[in-house]
Amino acid sequence: MPSPERTAEARRAMEVCNACRYCEGFCAVFPAMERRRAFSDADLDYLANLCHGCRGCFHACQYAPPHPFGINVPRSFAELRLDSYARYAWPKPLAALLHHNGIVMALAVSIGVGLVILLAAALQDPASLFGVHPVQPGAFYAVIPLAAMLWPALAVSLFSVLALAMGARAFWRDAGTPRRAPGTLAAAVGDTLSLRNLGGGGHGCNDRDEAFSMARRWLHHAMFYGFLLCFAATCVATLYDWFGHLAPYGFSTPPVLLGSVGGLGMLVGSGGLFWLKLTGDQTPDARRLVGPDVAMLASLALVAFTGLLLLALRATGAMGIALAIHLGCVLALFVTVPYSRMVHGLYRFAALLRNAIEARTMRILGE
Ligand code: SF4
Ligand code: SF4
Repeated sequence: MPSPERTAEARRAMEVCNACRYCEGFCAVFPAMERRRAFSDADLDYLANLCHGCRGCFHACQYAPPHPFGINVPRSFAELRLDSYARYAWPKPLAALLHHNGIVMALAVSIGVGLVILLAAALQDPASLFGVHPVQPGAFYAVIPLAAMLWPALAVSLFSVLALAMGARAFWRDAGTPRRAPGTLAAAVGDTLSLRNLGGGGHGCNDRDEAFSMARRWLHHAMFYGFLLCFAATCVATLYDWFGHLAPYGFSTPPVLLGSVGGLGMLVGSGGLFWLKLTGDQTPDARRLVGPDVAMLASLALVAFTGLLLLALRATGAMGIALAIHLGCVLALFVTVPYSRMVHGLYRFAALLRNAIEARTMRILGE
């Protein structure tokens, strides 16, 4: 649950930083901080979500531990971010899931796979789950009918979109953001797509120690664009189906090419980010975030791996089970998005948009 102590610690850090201002060129957080003299709880939520955890300010800080001030901005903000995900989670009782992400994810995957297998067995001859199906149009639907794939996925996606929209609305309302100025949406989208704030002012993040590196930024790109390519593959495949061209598709078709490149990107991104987490200095990290981070990376890797496995096994008798496992993992990922670390993308985008609006408003006012 959100804690007053963690909020007070982040406020103390910002008050020290606002007097010091040594790190003002590192990222968007420090200029946003300098626009304020006092920090409300909503301001701190905003600044915490604007922070990309690059650790640059920790390694540069003369007041970091063992200095008695003990300033650790990345850790204070990481703690606060997790609190903010819980504060804005909708519906409220499900916020507790954020603190047990490993168990939640394992349960969601088990239930998802079990549900898909049950549906397949109930709606089709159970033997078709284990049979060899020629790779020809409609082979997947001979194992799991289209309706059994479509309706659960649609219901889960609609619920997750609603939960995310309610959370973003509450975050935006609390932030009391000024009216949007022209060009600010494009600026926020540009910052999101380029992950500019992971650039650490040009030389990269302190991924593992005080050495600078672009690894985290590139691995995030691999993950993010890999995910988008897989989403694009699903959209194209849905359109193909719509026009009567049924899955599975040939290796050189757009859905398979997009999904394969995207899946590999997700695997490289999640594996690399996990490795950085495992080998990096833990001091600027929030211990409470390790579980949710690992659960998110594992679920994304699982979706990518099972998708590629399905592609490899689709001409064999393992296709039915591989398909059920992949669909179950996708269902689990989507149903848990609003209550997992995946939600950071939404709040970070909202914070980047607010930052673009504030910066533009200040420029217009000539301050
Ligand atoms: S993190 Fe440390 S060095 Fe940087 S602005 Fe804050 S107090 Fe100053
Ligand atoms: S950790 Fe990086 S992104 Fe976060 S406040 Fe420090 S310099 Fe900015």
